[in-house]
Amino acid sequence: MISPNEVKARAQQKKNENYAFRTFLKVQADPEKLDRQFLKLHKELFRNYDCNACRNCCKQFRGTLSGEEAAQCAENLDMSPDEFKAKYLHLNKEGMYDTNHVPCDFLQEDGSCLLGDCKPDDCTDFPFTARPDRWSSLLGIMSNVAVCPVLFEMIERLKNEYGFVYHRNNRWY
Ligand code: SF4
Ligand code: SF4
Repeated sequence: MISPNEVKARAQQKKNENYAFRTFLKVQADPEKLDRQFLKLHKELFRNYDCNACRNCCKQFRGTLSGEEAAQCAENLDMSPDEFKAKYLHLNKEGMYDTNHVPCDFLQEDGSCLLGDCKPDDCTDFPFTARPDRWSSLLGIMSNVAVCPVLFEMIERLKNEYGFVYHRNNRWY
């Protein structure tokens, strides 16, 4: 597994290759089989990975909470929902609550999340490789390769599973 610090540069080197692989999957992959492959790799690679030693996602994105999640997190922190929202959040155009800053306001120095078990689904699920219908979300998945070292590894293993070999001028480019 590559280190969190090098994933951005390594992903940049593989950018064309990864988008060619995305096109390959769109044409060649069976969507249901692809979901099973992603799920298997997701479980296998995250099983022993310490995300607290990475937290690239928390450093590069805002946290996003639903109103319900915000209310639950406020309660866990012994705050009122209004107090919690005023201190950490603002409403976005989709009606969700974004944290005010990047890195996320809830990221702690030791890599833990202030929200603990109450962290939003979007955080728990990142990089979303255990969710269904990954075939329709391959663009988003490829863009997150530059953030997540586990996803970087997942895509490399998936290339091996499909026997995908990238050539600069191949027809998947
Ligand atoms: S999900 Fe990926 S980017 Fe986020 S902390 Fe874990 S390894 Fe890092
Ligand atoms: S809410 Fe927690 S898990 Fe989600 S981005 Fe912020 S620090 Fe990371």
